[in-house]
Amino acid sequence: MTKGIVLGAGESGIGAALLAKQRGYDVFVSDRNPLSQVAKDTFEMHQISWEEMQHDFEQMKEAEWVMKSPGIPNDAPIVVQCEAANIPILSELEFACRYTSALLIGITGSNGKTTTTAMTYHILKQAGLHVGLAGNIGTSFARQIAEYDFDVFVLEVSSFQLDHIRRFAPHIAAITNITPDHLDRYGNDFGQYIQAKLKIASAQRTTDFLVYNANDPVLNKHIHAQSLLPTLHPFGINLPDGERQTTMIDNQIQIQTNKTNTMIATNNMALQGRHNLLNAMAAATIADLLKISKSVIRDSLATFQGVPHRLEPVLKIQKVQYINDSKATNVNATFFALESMDKPTVWIAGGVDKGNDYNELLPLVHEKVKAIVCLGEDNQKLFQSFEGVVDIMIETQSMEEAVKIAAKIATPNENVLLSPACASFDLFENYEDRGDQFKAAIRNL
Ligand code: ADP
Repeated sequence: MTKGIVLGAGESGIGAALLAKQRGYDVFVSDRNPLSQVAKDTFEMHQISWEEMQHDFEQMKEAEWVMKSPGIPNDAPIVVQCEAANIPILSELEFACRYTSALLIGITGSNGKTTTTAMTYHILKQAGLHVGLAGNIGTSFARQIAEYDFDVFVLEVSSFQLDHIRRFAPHIAAITNITPDHLDRYGNDFGQYIQAKLKIASAQRTTDFLVYNANDPVLNKHIHAQSLLPTLHPFGINLPDGERQTTMIDNQIQIQTNKTNTMIATNNMALQGRHNLLNAMAAATIADLLKISKSVIRDSLATFQGVPHRLEPVLKIQKVQYINDSKATNVNATFFALESMDKPTVWIAGGVDKGNDYNELLPLVHEKVKAIVCLGEDNQKLFQSFEGVVDIMIETQSMEEAVKIAAKIATPNENVLLSPACASFDLFENYEDRGDQFKAAIRNL
């Protein structure tokens, strides 16, 4: 029996192991950390062998491939060792796509992936397609291929998942934007990160499409500098006339292809903010390329309620609106959050700074922010950046304290916004924990 190795026993690893087993491989799962009980039970049930708290290379020498989970860095010793032994390293997407003939849609970018993916899935589902939602979101792609028989998959694709792809070729790929993030994984080299994102188009053919944000200067420049095969379909606000593109005209999304011109009203859209309009343009373009009717697209945009922790309205208390944007883990995401604030705002920010440059926020903070409540172990950089811009800056060490203070400062017809621009690992388990603690603290006010 041919041997396949799965490195990492999280959602992607479990999914890949199940699919590989189903397709007749002798699978061995290896994780440097302790395995969860769910992982162990699943492997026992499917007679998949595994190890934890170590990587035994002896077990891997004869493997035909190694599936590396996206969380494991490329320079992890076991990955380097497998590469040195000429064992092909595959990402979960690369491994799994070989076992499905479903039409694939892949969505990547620095911000807006989850929102755009969930929105696209919602439209396709409303259109009655037999569609799965996978990738960086929910149940893994590999597990769904093993368990269901979808006609279409909408995949949220992170740059880590693109690191080891070769044949993975979505029929429609979309890139929402490219701004500096996760640079620690790319040797602090923005160029390398850009190339990692553009890999989504590397195996596409001339009959495929690449939908991309033409308002993004980085994307615009690099897409045209590459010789890519797919048909390019730019989207953006205020685009100059073009033959194939998506733009806004009088509050309507206009989608032009060489055969059709579709106008979609956005006045009923549930999500607010310019960034969500861009996400909607990407999702609507994908749906239009799949020939979904304009009425279904319009109605789906109106009923799509967004994803938790992304500019999520929580509660209104004494006319103060509380908004949870805990997923804003970088400056660009917070930029769009602040931009969409239509009232004076008490801004809760801070956490683990990934080399943030706050300069681009200064005009927005000056215009919209009444006070900053800093919530991180180290708030020095926030103070340095905004001390002269905002009168009230307060340091806090817990979510409960931050919310209580924000509630004291905010007066009727103002917002309290959690949009940290930082990762959460100093005081919280992850961004979900941070957002959940925020919501709990509001409910306790
Ligand atoms: P991702 O999956 O790429 O992290 P999300 O949809 O989870 O993206 O959103 C992450 C953060 O970025 C949230 O704070 C959200 O409000 C913000 N955001 C969503 N769409 C965009 C966009 N197109 N451009 C910039 N920020 C965005």
